[in-house]
Amino acid sequence: MSDLLRAELENAQLCLLETYELAASYGDNEDKDMDKFLNLMERLCQIRDDGLRNENALAVAMEERSVADFVAMFQRELAKGNSKKCQPKKTREYKAFHDRLNEIANSGETSTSGGGGNGGRTSTDGIEMEIHVNLDDPLTKRRMVDPVKNTLCGHVYEKSSIRDAIQINPRLRCPVAGCGNNQYISEAHLKPDNALKLHLQRIADAQENE
Ligand SMILES: [Zn+2]
Repeated sequence: MSDLLRAELENAQLCLLETYELAASYGDNEDKDMDKFLNLMERLCQIRDDGLRNENALAVAMEERSVADFVAMFQRELAKGNSKKCQPKKTREYKAFHDRLNEIANSGETSTSGGGGNGGRTSTDGIEMEIHVNLDDPLTKRRMVDPVKNTLCGHVYEKSSIRDAIQINPRLRCPVAGCGNNQYISEAHLKPDNALKLHLQRIADAQENE
């Protein structure tokens, strides 16, 4: 698959996760409807599958010498692929996405990992709602100011502390307990988490005014 398409798909998937994270934290029940996100992810998997299939058919057809043969071969290969029905829900990507949504949805009840996982209260229509987002850097256990997200697993760290940690140990894996991401963290995996940064700023401002 072309790097561009792959990157676009990964990006779309990441956006879905981020949106769900925000919905789970601040949204109402309709926003939190996981099925909506799963349906979108299913479509992303479908696009990925179509992309791969086209690419494979193209690679085979390229072997042909004439345009007519090329077209015939390309169509034959595509048809071959189409008979093999794509099952997005069985892909590794879909399963990982599903797990991650559940993790986000349940993080409210299960965030017992010490160090103040809850981000304070907000009130909507007089109903107190507890927001559970990890606000503390998993490395220093201090409140984050400039959070970056690991794009491979969605966990968030303070930018400076994760950078320092990678410098000291280039073979550092995600330090969050129970994280299934086994890849060494690299700068390329880290992306600023602007939504959380804004949230942290609001909390800091609110505390200053207390
Ligand atoms: Zn992680």
